[in-house]
Amino acid sequence: MKSIHEKIHKWYKTHGRTDLPWRTVTDPYPIYLSEVMLQQTQVKTVLERYYFPFLEAFPTLKSLGEAPLDAVLKHWEGLGYYNRAKNLHKAAQVLLQKGQAQGIAPTLPSDIDTLFKLPGIGKNTAHAIAAFAFRQPVPVMEANVKRILCRLHRLRTPDEKRLWKLAYGMVDKENPFDYNQAMMDIGATLCIPKDPKCDLCPLESICKGKNTPRTYPLKKKRSVPTREEHIMISVYNDRLALTKRSGKFLHGLWGFASAEVPLCASEPIGEVSHAYTHFKLKCKVWVHHELEPEQESYFTPEEIKDLAVSKVDEKIVKLYLDTIQQ
Ligand code: SF4
Repeated sequence: MKSIHEKIHKWYKTHGRTDLPWRTVTDPYPIYLSEVMLQQTQVKTVLERYYFPFLEAFPTLKSLGEAPLDAVLKHWEGLGYYNRAKNLHKAAQVLLQKGQAQGIAPTLPSDIDTLFKLPGIGKNTAHAIAAFAFRQPVPVMEANVKRILCRLHRLRTPDEKRLWKLAYGMVDKENPFDYNQAMMDIGATLCIPKDPKCDLCPLESICKGKNTPRTYPLKKKRSVPTREEHIMISVYNDRLALTKRSGKFLHGLWGFASAEVPLCASEPIGEVSHAYTHFKLKCKVWVHHELEPEQESYFTPEEIKDLAVSKVDEKIVKLYLDTIQQ
C-alpha cells in the first residue's frame, strides 16, 4: 500500500480541501462539532451558515454543556435532524459533569470505545474524532469512503463488517489524518455517484470496479410515504399559539398543533409540505380566531423568529403572514 498512500497524499496536497476550518485546528471540540454537523449536511451549508455562528455562541464544550437546550436548538435551526443537536448538548453535559467531578474542564475522550458510549456518537463519528482530533491510526467510514471501498472491491451490497475490515486494512497508519481527509475528498470530488473521474483518481491502479463504477454499490430503491396533517394556527389578539413539542418527532422545538379534524370555525389558508428522510409531510393549514385565550403560549410572528422552530413551522408562519398581507 505504500505507493498508493504516497499517491493519495500527493493528490491531497494539491487537490484536497486542506483549508476547511475543522482541518486546521487541534482542539477536539470543533472537530467533534464539524463531524456531527456533517453527518447529514453538506460541507458548503455547514461552512456558510452554521459552523462559525455555533462556535461563536458555544465556543467550548463547557459553554455548550452549560447552555439551555433551547439556545442550542435555536442555533441548529434549519440544519434539521435535531436529534444531532440534542445529543451534542447531552454529550457536552455528560462530559461537563465528569469534568466537574474531577475538578477539570470537560474534555472529549480519545478512546473509540469511550467516545462510542456518548450520546449521538456512532461508530464512524467515534473513528473520525479519534483519527482527526487524536491522530489515531484508524479509518473513517462515511458515505463517500463506503462508495470508494465498494468500487475498489466490486461490492454491490456493502456489508458493514467487511467494509470496516477493508478500511482498517487500507488506512495509512503513519499519517491517518491526511489519509482519511483525502479519502473523503476523493469520494466527494472524484469517486462521485454518477460520473466518477477515474482517470484523475490516485486509486485507479488498484481499483477493480473502475470499468463499471456506477454499478457499485447497488442503489437501494426507497419509496417515501406521504403523511398528511391538518395544522391549526390559533390566533388570539394577533398572536399565534405554539406549543413545545414533546413527542419523538421534532422534540424540544416549538410548533403549531395538528388536529385530526379542523375546528368548525377555522378557515383553510393553504398547504405547505416538507420532505424528511423517511417521509414527506403535507400540511393543510387552518386559521382559528379565539375570542379568549385557550392555549398556554402565544407569540407574535416577530417573536417566533427568536424561537427554535422547525423548517415546516417556519413555512407555516410565512404562509400565515402572506395570507394576512393579501
Ligand atoms: S478509480 Fe474510479 S471507481 Fe475507482 S475509486 Fe477511483 S474514481 Fe472511484
